[in-house]
Amino acid sequence: MAYDNQNIFAKIIRGEIPCHKIYEDDKTLSFMDIMPMATGHALVIPKCEAVELSDMPADYLQAVFSTAQKVMQAQRQVLNTEGIVQMQLNNAQAGQSVFHYHVHLIPTHVHEIGKHEDKTANHEELAKLAEQIRQVIV
Ligand code: 5GP
Repeated sequence: MAYDNQNIFAKIIRGEIPCHKIYEDDKTLSFMDIMPMATGHALVIPKCEAVELSDMPADYLQAVFSTAQKVMQAQRQVLNTEGIVQMQLNNAQAGQSVFHYHVHLIPTHVHEIGKHEDKTANHEELAKLAEQIRQVIV
C-alpha cells in the first residue's frame, strides 16, 4: 500500500495536529492514544514513511523498539501494573485504521482490556498521564 502523507500520524509528526507527547527523539515519537483501550494506552511511531511492518527500515525498527522499551518501563511505574500488551496491526484486513506504522503499548490486566476505539478519553486525564510518564522516562 502506498504511503499517504496526509494520514493523522504524519500530521502529528509535522506538528499540524496536537498530541499528548510522552517522548521524542530524531527517529521516533511516542504519545497517548486518543481512544485508549485501557488507561495509559500509548503509541510509538517512526519518523519515516512506513505504512506497516514490511515497509520499515531496520534502523527505524530498532529505534521504535528502543523507544517502546523506555515507554513501557515508565508506564509500569505510573500505571502500577506489570502487564503491558504490545500490539501492531498490518493492513486494514488486520484492523489497521491509521496507515502509518505504530506500535501500541497497552498497560492492562487481560480482563480489563476494552474494545478498540470504543470512546474518546478525557483530554485532561491524557495530558496528566503523558506528563507522569514523561517525567519518569529514562
Ligand atoms: P490501528 O487500528 O491503526 O492499529 O490503531 C490506530 C490507533 O490510533 C487507535 O488506537 C486510535 O485510537 C488512535 N488514533 C486515531 N486517531 C488518533 C489521533 O488523532 N490522535 C491520537 N493520539 N490517536 C489516534
